Amino acid sequence: MRRILIAVTVVLVWSAPAMAQQQQDPLGWLVSAVLALLLLWTLWLLRKAKTQLQVSVPMRPDSSDDLHDELSGLPNKARLSQIVKRWDKQQRGKKAALLVCKVQHFDRVNQAIGAQNADLLLVQIAQRLQQRLISEAQACLLDKENKVAHLGGIYFALWLDASEKQHGAEQLAHKLEYQLPQSLLIHGCAIDYQLLSGIACYPEHGEQLNELLDKALLVLQHRQFGHSHHLVYQPELTQYDQDKLSLMAELQQAIDSQQLKLHIQPQLSLTDHKVLAGEVLIRWHHPRRGLMGPDQFLPLAEQMGVIYPLTRWVLERAIQLLAQLQQQQLHCQIAVNLSSKDLLQDELVDTVELLLNKYQVPASLLILELKESALVAEPDLALRTLHHLSQLGVELALDDFGTGFSSLAYLRELPIQQVKVDCSFVFDLHRSDTHSAITGAIIDIAKNLQFTVVAEGIEQQEVEQKLLAMGCSRGQGYLYAKPFALDAFVPWMQQWGYSKASY
Ligand code: C2E
Ligand code: CA
Ligand code: CA
Repeated sequence: MRRILIAVTVVLVWSAPAMAQQQQDPLGWLVSAVLALLLLWTLWLLRKAKTQLQVSVPMRPDSSDDLHDELSGLPNKARLSQIVKRWDKQQRGKKAALLVCKVQHFDRVNQAIGAQNADLLLVQIAQRLQQRLISEAQACLLDKENKVAHLGGIYFALWLDASEKQHGAEQLAHKLEYQLPQSLLIHGCAIDYQLLSGIACYPEHGEQLNELLDKALLVLQHRQFGHSHHLVYQPELTQYDQDKLSLMAELQQAIDSQQLKLHIQPQLSLTDHKVLAGEVLIRWHHPRRGLMGPDQFLPLAEQMGVIYPLTRWVLERAIQLLAQLQQQQLHCQIAVNLSSKDLLQDELVDTVELLLNKYQVPASLLILELKESALVAEPDLALRTLHHLSQLGVELALDDFGTGFSSLAYLRELPIQQVKVDCSFVFDLHRSDTHSAITGAIIDIAKNLQFTVVAEGIEQQEVEQKLLAMGCSRGQGYLYAKPFALDAFVPWMQQWGYSKASY
């Protein structure tokens, strides 16, 4: 059928100009060309349908035994464990390698195409791995026809004979990462994916599957966070891990032993330099490591799941400050940064409400800042929390705007009132046409959606003037004040009223 269609198309395309010339009829030529295009389109549709048919056929329809993955039909971890045990018994000491690979950023794929389609994609990736690796001599057969194990979800593994080729596992990992991922079609949409791998060596790094697996996964984790580029496990990685663990254990005590300090940076009206708000920023005075900025410990705290107690502590200090400001008749909002994990905490909304009641502070004085990335992992849950916070009357700001991927339509769905333009666009606004254009566009979009725009990172007066000309009238930056100790905010506010013209 396909061949016939191709033949008809070719004939039509070739004969059309000749026919048109003969008949002096340009309309005829046009009709033939359109017909030919229609046929080509039909061909393309046929091809697509064929690919989709292939997709929905699992490799092993009956994979109900305990040794195969239900989704892909490939040998599972239990089967791989048998293979490793057999190797250890029969080939004792002979070098082997465990290569584990993971499909990166799969949560985003899941979100974009839905869980069912994402499963289809995993089956296709499993098939690709299998097809690609079946001819690899060093990959050991796990059962009669398969060389790849599916450890479940996004994880796959290979058991390699490393007795002959010294860097064979690394070369193969390289191939998998750079040559295998080519877009796959799911219901006509091309989906990109990326593989990331890690290797642990038998018997050097362990003799049992679990030991080797832990180490290969550690390699993956370090590569993913950019801490290391090594494909093969190195003992330093475990050392680094222990360092991290001890840092996080110390963080839990740091609040009690008053090593964590809060700073604050004022946010001003660019037109008359009145102080409108203050953003609370955390620091850690570590007894051995010295002064640590938030970037040195917050990402880790997030990753290790210990961020929420810290946020709760910051929130209480911020709301206490609001109460203090009110007592002094100083009208000003206070902004607190939330981490993405905070939005997934059930108690967050109750905690905010409880603290506002405890210190008798109106909710509208509190601003909570979140980054676009906070909505990526679990958008539904995060959005629900945002709506609850908004119902309390708290103001919400989208931080670092311009660096993420939020579409206009998406922004409209968020219950936010403020958009903060990222420092990186603002610093050199007066010198860079590109940054000037981006900031201008962000300001226009945000204003159209009736959000307040806040520029951060204002260091030069020329930048302030440009922002004002662009229609942004709220900002913060070193031009007015660098972040300083939270306790000094009330006296600073009182003084600023008199000296604001002389910075
Ligand atoms: P952010 O929310 O974007 O905060 C603004 C950062 O820009 C602060 O860095 C501030 O000191 C810096 N900055 C402000 N104006 C200027 C300027 O004119 N020039 C320059 N060069 N920098 C300026 P900082 O304090 O190091 O904070 C870094 C990030 O750490 C913050 O970025 C925020 O995302 C996060 N962070 C800070 N405190 C907390 C916290 O309590 N909780 C959470 N979850 N995140 C926090
Ligand atoms: Ca912020
Ligand atoms: Ca920011």
